[in-house]
Amino acid sequence: MNYAMVGYSGKMGKEITETFSEAGHRLVVKADENGIEEFGTPEVVIDFSRPEALKTTIELCKKYSAGLVIGTTALKEEDFEALRELSKTVPVVQSFNFSIGINVMLKILPELSNLLKDWDAEIIETHHRFKKDAPSGTAILLKNSLNKDVPTHSVRIGGIPGDHVVIFGNLGETIEIKHHAISRKVFAIGALRAAEFILKNKKPGFYTFSQILEGGI
Ligand code: NAD
Repeated sequence: MNYAMVGYSGKMGKEITETFSEAGHRLVVKADENGIEEFGTPEVVIDFSRPEALKTTIELCKKYSAGLVIGTTALKEEDFEALRELSKTVPVVQSFNFSIGINVMLKILPELSNLLKDWDAEIIETHHRFKKDAPSGTAILLKNSLNKDVPTHSVRIGGIPGDHVVIFGNLGETIEIKHHAISRKVFAIGALRAAEFILKNKKPGFYTFSQILEGGI
């Protein structure tokens, strides 16, 4: 496929362009905070950047009638409104986490939370020192899956790609559900899966990565 990468010079941009080129796909539009270079027609736009880039991303999708895979975090409600509007004309896949493990956690946590209704629960997320937003988008997804308001703690240290732990406890015991991303590659592979879904499906709509994995998990 021909694809556009918004945030191509970033940590995720590098990982994604490497993974997509290993799969034989061609980068034809590159965008980052320094501008845009266009040298082909993208079928899919991938955005792992900053919320400030969303306007550029949506313009690219409209200009080329391209679907969108967006993993950028710290999006606000107005950003989601803009994405839902875009999804009336092209397919949009959005997730704050493109790993399979976290999406499996999101499936089991509502049941666990329900079984452990009267236990305490807290979330700890740990990321590299350069991460700009806190709590992480993934911590927000995990918290929403518990269907109750729980304290969330953010640790910024070293080069950790992303660790998330949900701890349940009563006076005599604890249960921890933990996800550890060994490398950023896992998110790039998820973004590739989402882009391939868009190419096959082509139907406009707003999809989460969990929905795409349905049946595949
Ligand atoms: P980074 O700081 O290394 O890179 C950010 C990129 O965005 C750079 O290329 C920068 O030039 C570009 N950028 C910044 N402002 C821009 C603008 N106004 N217009 C166009 N481009 C702009 O960050 P990163 O670690 O690569 O992470 C990027 C995003 O992906 C973050 O929001 C991060 O939280 C998110 N992320 C999501 C997942 C997921 O699975 N959904 C996984 C990892 C990271």
